[in-house]
Amino acid sequence: MPTSSGGITLEEVCADVAIVGGGVMGPSVAYHLRNLNLAEHVVVFEQDPLHMHSSTGLSAGGIRQLFSSAANIALARWSVGFYRRFAELTATRQGPGPDVGFRENGYLFLLDAANEEMLSRRADFQEAQGVALQRLSVPEVQKRYPEMDVSDLTGGIFGVEAGFLDPYQVMRGFTDKARELGVRFVPEQAVAIETSNGRAAAVRSESVRVTAPIIVDAAGAWAGAVGRLAGVDVPVEPTARQIWVFGVPEDRFGHYPLVVDPSGFYFRPEAGGRVLCGKSFPEDPKDFVWDWNRDLFQEAVWPDLATRVPMLERLHLESGWCGLYEVTPDDNAIIGPHPDLAGFYVIAGFSGHGMMQGPAAGLALAEMIGHGEARSVDVTGLDARRFGEGRLLREDAVV
Ligand SMILES: Cc1cc2nc3c(=O)[nH]c(=O)nc-3n(C[C@H](O)[C@H](O)[C@H](O)COP(=O)(O)OP(=O)(O)OC[C@H]3O[C@@H](n4cnc5c(N)ncnc54)[C@H](O)[C@@H]3O)c2cc1C
Repeated sequence: MPTSSGGITLEEVCADVAIVGGGVMGPSVAYHLRNLNLAEHVVVFEQDPLHMHSSTGLSAGGIRQLFSSAANIALARWSVGFYRRFAELTATRQGPGPDVGFRENGYLFLLDAANEEMLSRRADFQEAQGVALQRLSVPEVQKRYPEMDVSDLTGGIFGVEAGFLDPYQVMRGFTDKARELGVRFVPEQAVAIETSNGRAAAVRSESVRVTAPIIVDAAGAWAGAVGRLAGVDVPVEPTARQIWVFGVPEDRFGHYPLVVDPSGFYFRPEAGGRVLCGKSFPEDPKDFVWDWNRDLFQEAVWPDLATRVPMLERLHLESGWCGLYEVTPDDNAIIGPHPDLAGFYVIAGFSGHGMMQGPAAGLALAEMIGHGEARSVDVTGLDARRFGEGRLLREDAVV
């Protein structure tokens, strides 16, 4: 029923769950809530329906299980299984869900004298957690990837059941399927969150007010701002990260995994025989900016890239973009109820590794909402309480 507030007519909607954010996390939660019948009426607000600035559409789409905590490994492993069947699991009456182009070329951390001990110790832990990986000698790295100069390397940790995919299609698949399952998407910014008797009570945009006993902050890099709308602290900050895409002289990289160089840059094959490359710098702006920095590639990435892959001394930088990592104080996601406001849940702060966790993270949060606990994936340690209690779960495998 429409009501009038300050001269604006508001459509009044009653829901079980209102979600702020329609990147990968919001639609994933919505999909699982409906798919498992854990909630009947679900509404998702998205301020940027063309997704010009969402992190999901601007992601590199790398998928790995090589993490340093059990929760992150569990989230990634479950998500890999989901991605393998994505088109089937998100099929609608129109046909199969989108092809997310999941290419299991692997994920390779190159080792040198400086990082070998740390990464090898981490690999021991990962193997104990059941992660499938291979410890490559230098000749093995050279044999598989002869274009690389391995003279300074001591080996590689190669994650199998890993690779990369098209993040935009993941978002589209979850959104389309959730919509078919009855989820309503409101293409507007949530501008207010109302509370009542110490509980989350409603979300308001310009033309819609949704009352719901459960409100989910799935706002990615904006999660802190959405927390402030509800009067609570959600420690997530934006950090601008660059991607560069270039054509290469010969199409020799199609079988490459996502390679992480000891100097910090990563690269992987991209469609059309091109290569995609990125690197995080400590000076990257911690702000809502999306300015692509072409010169940074030339000055601070290309020299190392051409040293590692000498044939890339000749390349043609075609394009690129800048997107936001959504960073928490310990580089790990927040999944679960917020300790300071009943009914307010957070699924945000994936700190640059949300694509590999989105399907499972959405399931975990849907189960928390519906059952009071995450039953299918153990996300212990990723709760929102940890910051106030000084229990940070530091992730050292951040790329
Ligand atoms: C350059 C780059 C490379 C990356 N590479 C990888 C990678 O290789 N592998 C990997 O796993 N991850 C990677 N990531 C990280 C991954 O993309 C993110 O972790 C993931 O997309 C986060 O999803 P999200 O749904 O939380 O955020 P988003 O996709 O940003 O979605 C949040 C949505 O909330 C909306 N919103 C915010 N405030 C409001 C409001 N008030 N009202 C309504 N809507 C609102 C926003 O418009 C946005 O669409 C990368 C990210 C970047 C930027």
